[in-house]
Amino acid sequence: MTDVTDCLFCAIVAGTTPADVVARSDHGVAFRDVNPQAPVHVLVVPIRHIDHAAAVTAADGAVLADLFVLARRVAEAEGVADSGFRLVANVGEDAANSVPHLHLHVIGGRRLGWPPG
Ligand code: AMP
Repeated sequence: MTDVTDCLFCAIVAGTTPADVVARSDHGVAFRDVNPQAPVHVLVVPIRHIDHAAAVTAADGAVLADLFVLARRVAEAEGVADSGFRLVANVGEDAANSVPHLHLHVIGGRRLGWPPG
């Protein structure tokens, strides 16, 4: 497991590293990705550190539900709830997971290709 004292997204959640925060919930924080891949690209992260999507357990159910509701709220606020958006959770090297703190990418605002590259 990642040392949470050395976790970038834990630092953003704590407010010790700056980020463009767009929404908060009981269990999550949403902020803009610094390297956006689409007109809307927001990351939704749990306040409590979880390494990645494959580290989620049944005990995290309430946190996960809260994050999905937060992602929907972000999509609505960003104006892509009706046009459509993608939720992505990368796990591991082949998926290019670069920050070891669970996050949902909320991506939209343009036609997204499928399958992803
Ligand atoms: P992943 O590749 O799924 O682990 O996604 C990590 C994402 O975090 C990438 O899209 C990065 O652009 C983004 N990112 C890295 N550092 C920051 C930061 N300080 N603030 C906001 N987004 C970041």
